[in-house]
Amino acid sequence: MSARKKLVAGNWKLHHDRAASVELAKAIAAGLPSSQVEVVIAPVFTSLDVVRGAIAGTSIGLSAQDLHWDDSGAFTGEVSAPLLKDVGCTHVIIGHSERRQLFGETDDRVSKKLGAALKHGLVPIVCVGETLEEREAGRTLEVVLGQIDAALAGITKDALAGIVIAYEPVWAIGTGKVAKSSDAQEVQAAIRKRMSERIDAGAAQKTRILYGGSVKPDNAAELMAQPDVDGALVGGASLKAASFLAIVKGA
Ligand code: PEP
Repeated sequence: MSARKKLVAGNWKLHHDRAASVELAKAIAAGLPSSQVEVVIAPVFTSLDVVRGAIAGTSIGLSAQDLHWDDSGAFTGEVSAPLLKDVGCTHVIIGHSERRQLFGETDDRVSKKLGAALKHGLVPIVCVGETLEEREAGRTLEVVLGQIDAALAGITKDALAGIVIAYEPVWAIGTGKVAKSSDAQEVQAAIRKRMSERIDAGAAQKTRILYGGSVKPDNAAELMAQPDVDGALVGGASLKAASFLAIVKGA
C-alpha cells in the first residue's frame, strides 16, 4: 500500500453564494469520517472568507480555484497568492481544463502560477488532461506528459513532493463519462514515471496524483484503489454533502 495520504478535493466551480457555501461547508465538516483522508474544498472567491470561518478548527483545507502569478499590480479582476493566503487558503487549483479551454490558460501561465503558489506556501493542485479528440488520435500520453513537463519546468525535487497533480481527462469532466480505472492508472503511472525521470524518483513517489472526471460515490472507491490514484478532484458530486462525503469514505 502506498504511503501517500489520500486527498479528496471538491471543486465547487461557479456555484453557491456565501450562505449556501457556508451551509455546504458545515454539512461536510459535520459528516467527515475520522479517516486518514485529507479533504479540501474550493468555493468561489467571494465565499472563501466565510467558508474559512465555517471550517475553522476542522482538518478541511481551503482552496481557491485559480490565482495570478504576480503578487500585486495592474491586473484588473485577478487575485494573487498573498491575498489567498490572507483569506486563509491552504491550496489552489491551477490549470483546470475549464480555464485552459474557456479562458485561454496556457502551459506557460500554469507554470508561472505554480511558481507563485509554491513561493507563498500554497499547495498547488495542477490539472492536466487530454481532450476526446486527442485520446481518439492516440495522443493521450503525449499531451498529458507535455502538460506535465511544461508545468513542472524548473521545479526542484524538494518542491515536487508537495505538489498535487490532478489527471482530469477533459472528456470526463461534467459529462458522466468516467475513465476506466485501468486507463486512469495507466496515465497516472506514466505521470509519476515522467516526474521520476525528469526531476527525482524519491520525490515523485511522494507526489499525490488525483483523478478527476465524473467521480461519483459508486465509482470512487474503485478508481482510488489503483496504485497511482491518490485521491480525487470532484466537481458536480462535491456540491452535495452526502455525495461528497460518500466519495471521501470510499477513499
Ligand atoms: C472538475 O471540475 O474538476 C471535475 C472533475 O468535474 P466533475 O466531477 O463534475 O466531472
